[in-house]
Amino acid sequence: MKGMTIIMSDCLFCKIIAGEIPSDIVYEDENVLAFRDIAPKAPVHVLVIPKLHIKSAADITADNSNIAAKCLEVVATIAKKEHLDSGFRIISNSGPDAGQTVDHLHFHLVGGTKLGFIET
Ligand code: 5GP
Ligand code: ZN
Repeated sequence: MKGMTIIMSDCLFCKIIAGEIPSDIVYEDENVLAFRDIAPKAPVHVLVIPKLHIKSAADITADNSNIAAKCLEVVATIAKKEHLDSGFRIISNSGPDAGQTVDHLHFHLVGGTKLGFIET
């Protein structure tokens, strides 16, 4: 799994990982990419994604949960870097009822203000 990248040619976030679509990258390592959301819902709104194409949180299994955990580790790193000392929120929409619009697992990291209800 280490450093594993499977690119899905029809996936927007796989295209961002491949550099085919530009993004404002805030963090990158062999397993994880984080970039600013194109339509931010808070002063800080970063998307943290595995480089491995996992469709959604519903597809996290014993085989890939280490990568999902890596994403959460990166969330904590970015929260410190962005000085979100008084708090932040992690959102991961999974499936149509949750309003997932990009079928590549992603964690929204939102913060930088007192957060009310956010529809991501
Ligand atoms: P979802 O609705 O699936 O939970 O979240 C998808 C997120 O991806 C949305 O917040 C949307 O603004 C963001 N997004 C969609 N297309 C792009 C893009 O091309 N670049 C970036 N940086 N974010 C995008
Ligand atoms: Zn993908």
